[in-house]
Amino acid sequence: MTHPLQQFPPPDMADLENRYADNVSGEYYVDDQCIDCDLCRETATANFTRNEDGGYSYVYKQPETPEERALCEEAMEGCPVEAIGCNGNEG
Ligand code: SF4
Repeated sequence: MTHPLQQFPPPDMADLENRYADNVSGEYYVDDQCIDCDLCRETATANFTRNEDGGYSYVYKQPETPEERALCEEAMEGCPVEAIGCNGNEG
């Protein structure tokens, strides 16, 4: 039997099961596809930061305002490898 989480999200999106443990729990997260390009940290500075040892980004604070949420959406859409997901609440 297939677990429901294996059917969602589609394969070309960030995978909840592969998200970094650094991400705070909640809606947005970064998974292990991150190539440390800095875009999300530049875009949504209040929500994304860098794991200096691992060389990747993660969500250190979930968006709390419409403005922060919009920037997280922008970061997610701009991520070149689609490593950012927004379905963390479902996990
Ligand atoms: S935009 Fe994507 S690839 Fe770039 S640092 Fe953020 S999560 Fe990683």
